[in-house]
Parts: sequence; C-alpha cells; structure tokens
Amino acid sequence: MPAARPQKTQPSKPFWSTVDDQRALDLVTALMRIPGPSCHEAAIAADLRRRLRAAGISAAAITTDTAHKKSPAGGDTGNLIVKVPGTNRGPRRLLMAHLDTVPLAVGCRPIRRGDSLVSGNRRSGLGADNRSGVAAVLTAVLEIIRRKLPHPPLTLLFTVQEELGLFGSRFVDVRKLGRPQLAWNFDGRGPQRITRAAIGGRTLEISFQGIASHAGGAADRGVSAVALAGLAIHDLVSGGWHGEFVRGGKVGTCNLAMIQGGDATNVVTDRVDIRGECRSFDRRLLDRIAREVDRACQRAVRTIKNSRGQRGSVSFQTDVEYEPFTLPKHAPSVTVAAEAIRSLGMKPEVLTTQGALDANWLNARGIPVATLGAGQVAGHSLDERLDIDQFLAGCRVALRLATG
Ligand SMILES: [Zn+2]
Repeated sequence: MPAARPQKTQPSKPFWSTVDDQRALDLVTALMRIPGPSCHEAAIAADLRRRLRAAGISAAAITTDTAHKKSPAGGDTGNLIVKVPGTNRGPRRLLMAHLDTVPLAVGCRPIRRGDSLVSGNRRSGLGADNRSGVAAVLTAVLEIIRRKLPHPPLTLLFTVQEELGLFGSRFVDVRKLGRPQLAWNFDGRGPQRITRAAIGGRTLEISFQGIASHAGGAADRGVSAVALAGLAIHDLVSGGWHGEFVRGGKVGTCNLAMIQGGDATNVVTDRVDIRGECRSFDRRLLDRIAREVDRACQRAVRTIKNSRGQRGSVSFQTDVEYEPFTLPKHAPSVTVAAEAIRSLGMKPEVLTTQGALDANWLNARGIPVATLGAGQVAGHSLDERLDIDQFLAGCRVALRLATG
C-alpha cells in the first residue's frame, strides 16, 4: 500500500478574511458596464435589486425612498435601501455606497490591464468611482448569504446623485434605515484609509442693484453697482474674511469666484452679480462667514449715495451645500473599522478630507458614517482605474464589518 499522503495541516483562515476574488471582480466589472450617471440610476438600481432577489433577499426587504422627488435635479429613482435581519444580536450596521458615476464614465468597457481594470473605451472613464464601493458592499452581503455566515442586523444604502451635489444622501429617508449605530461609506481608494471628518460648504450669492445713469452727462445721479461690489470685496479682504483664515482656532475659507455686470462703458452700471462659496470643518464658522459677507455688502450699500441722496441695494443669499462633520477618533464606526483593517494585516490610516461625501449628510442626520476605500484611482478622469488588490482588500474589510 502506498503511504498515505501527509495531510497538510493549514490553520484555517477565519471566515471573514476571504472573499471569492473572481466573483467580486466579475461583479464590479458587470456593474461598471451599466451606465448610471446622476439622475439616471434606475437601471443600475434594478440590476442590484435583481442580484439581491436572486441571492434570496425578500422583495419586502428592498425599498427605495423618494429622494429624487425632493432633489432639485429630479431623477428617475430614489435611494435603494436593503434591510437584512441579523442571525445574531448586536447593534445594526449600515454599509453604503453611491450608485451614480460622473457622466464621463458612460460608455465604459472595463478591461484588465496589469493589476488594474481600466476602460477599454478611450473616451470614457471607468466609473470605479463608485462602482467599486457598490461592489464591495454587495460582495459582503452576497458572501454572507451564499456562505451562510453569522451577522448582526444590516442595512445597505445605495445612494443616488452623489456626484451632482450629494442630493441622495441629503434627502435620504432616515426612517427607513433602522437606526444603525455603526456605519461605513465605501467611496475611495486605499482600503486602509478611514475618513472620519469632512469639510462643510455654503454657497454665497450676491446681487448689487445700483442706479443707472449716463456716465458722462448724469454720472452724479448714478449709483455704480461695480463700486458697491468693489467696496464690499475690499471690506472682506482687509477684514481677513477672504481666502483662508483662522477664527477662534478654526480654519475657514471664503472665495468670491464669479463676478458679472455691466454692458456699456457709457452707463453707470446698475447691476453686479457675484457668486462664491465658503468652507470650514466648523459649522458655526460657516454661518459666521456668510454673515460677514452679508454685512460687508450692507456697509457698501450705506457708503454710496447719488446726488439725490438715493442708494443702491443688495440681495444676499446663502445655502448649505453640505454640512461638515467630525467623528471623534474613538467613535465606534472609526475604531471598529480600524480593528477590521488591522485584523486583515493592514495599517489603518485615519484622515480628514477637504472634499464632500455622502457621509456629510448622514452624519448631519445623526448616523455616524466613516468613509473607507475600495480601490478607485483617479476618479472623474479618463485615466481612472480600479486597483484590483485594493478593491479586493476593500471587499474583505466590508465583509469583516458586515459580519461584526
Ligand atoms: Zn465617489
């Protein structure tokens, strides 16, 4: 009798540390082929619904909200929300990613090049932003179902219109999310990166109304809107409220970016429009910046009178583009993510970002979302690619987090 083959006694890997790499890659490739620019996410949402149903998730567990009806941009579907009952107890966990891509990614034909996926169509981006995140979240839940892995109650949230202005997350129906206590948004590059804070922004819109008159014969009767704008801008710059500044230890920025007015040199200009924005991690500083801009405009209006004692006027409007958020370093969404990343042999990096994320709006609504990466590189460009190793590591992080 031949000697029995020596049995390899490999220590078996913990269940959460592996995913089926080929399935995950096939999935992200299939998702990238489906066009889904902002406001046109119905097709990709339908594809996700089909995959979830095929995996055995009940139709009743999959809903959409009406964010698109509240969005100023309209759109063909709301956010897709999936609730998966837990096999064990524990706080509900939410995993999310945005469904839409930038318009540049429409027409993408994903092909493999070296260690990456790229678009085979040279005129399109890849759409790894954010089909990589969608695929990571989906991979986690499909692995859980296929391999019957134990897990706490889960909510999956696939948002619309992120690229257009975070409208999906801004208008999400939080009542449908089931009060998750831990939450992660997959939308980024390195799977070891945890973004725990993001800046907030306000729009600034100013319209100066002057009084038109002949620039030669009746200049004294005019009130120049150009002069009003100039005074207000000078006031903001000399007062340290333009560019980057620090107030009370908090950093803010203010940028008056576009200015328009006047249509003839022989007329005292009666209208100037200015558009800009301000940003900060501190919500109160954001409000303060907007107030200072408003005040500078009002002071300018009070400064100039024509020969009849008349003044111009100003209308000022500001709107919240996105609210800032900062999760403390010891917030569970941060520490649990760091532990998951460490357990998979990576070194967690905790970061803040100057950009805006869906996480801004969810945190503003009381859901503590940290943002993680899943291999997208050079998003919003023709050079966009998916780093396959990073994507697969992102899938493993998602599985680890979803299984608790
Ligand atoms: Zn994105």
